[in-house]
Amino acid sequence: MKTSLTGRCACAAIQYEADSDIEFAFQCHCRKCQRLTGGGHASAFALPVSEVKFTGKITEYEQDNEAGVTTHSGFCSTCGSPVTSRSERFPERIYIHAATLDDPALFHPSFSVFAPESQPWDNENPDLKKV
Ligand SMILES: [Zn+2]
Ligand SMILES: [Zn+2]
Repeated sequence: MKTSLTGRCACAAIQYEADSDIEFAFQCHCRKCQRLTGGGHASAFALPVSEVKFTGKITEYEQDNEAGVTTHSGFCSTCGSPVTSRSERFPERIYIHAATLDDPALFHPSFSVFAPESQPWDNENPDLKKV
């Protein structure tokens, strides 16, 4: 069964809707996500990009990660909320920040990445698989 996912940035200038199940959900502890979110990690989930309809203007900035892959971080230029992330390595997929969900309870992270970059003040769920 497909779930209907809806969400928005803090000021609601950007909204989205997807008729798709979440492909996978995770926590990312890389330094880029720490700076981007202002917290200890990013909580995000993946969807097929073809399944998501956005309204409003997403502003993106490009950055190469440590592996040399270009990523595009999408945010709202009015309220500054991080909303999306895209990697040129997986163009068919879009990552969406979990707290943008209208129903954040739909987010169930199953693994964590860049765990070695975790901050000691960020309490990580020890049950999450580290990949
Ligand atoms: Zn906004
Ligand atoms: Zn990250």
